[in-house]
Amino acid sequence: MKKIFLTLLLTFTLATPSWSAPIYTFPISGCKTTYGKYHHDYPASDIKAKFGCAFVAPINGVVEDVSTKDRWSGKTNLGQHRGGLSVSIIGEDGVRYYGSHLSKIEPGIAPGVVVVSGQKLGEVGRTGSARGIPKPHLHFGISYPTMPGDWEIRRGVIAPWPFLDAWKAGKDLSPAKAVAKAKVKAGK
Ligand SMILES: [Zn+2]
Repeated sequence: MKKIFLTLLLTFTLATPSWSAPIYTFPISGCKTTYGKYHHDYPASDIKAKFGCAFVAPINGVVEDVSTKDRWSGKTNLGQHRGGLSVSIIGEDGVRYYGSHLSKIEPGIAPGVVVVSGQKLGEVGRTGSARGIPKPHLHFGISYPTMPGDWEIRRGVIAPWPFLDAWKAGKDLSPAKAVAKAKVKAGK
């Protein structure tokens, strides 16, 4: 009996890493994607994918803010409207993740809703300041939480590409430390 227990314990201990689901999920699911290491004037990633591809939660978390209407105008180009349709979540790692230029928000995705890593939040599109760009992309930003609607921090404070590379390869690399550093640097 004792031997069986030990065998079971050993089997469980050794097998645990392959049983546990990954914490982080690449934010676009089921589609071919491309992204570079460059983003114009602040750190973020523009992930190119086909229109309608699923934007998914990169980690378990809670929905912070949702923009369901595209209020962007080329004439005013207001910062808070540039994202068009967007979703931000606060992950269980304390980091905020933001996806914008969406064509659609998934039903039920609203502030305060609990989401799990890999859960669909919306679909890739061309809303906001991406309206005139022929190829759709997901603007993906990583930041420290401030307050809902804070577009300037939310759009991104660190480069997401090293984390995107890791998640794409099935590795759990956390941006929490890099985000904490950026917060200190900003004096927040
Ligand atoms: Zn962008």
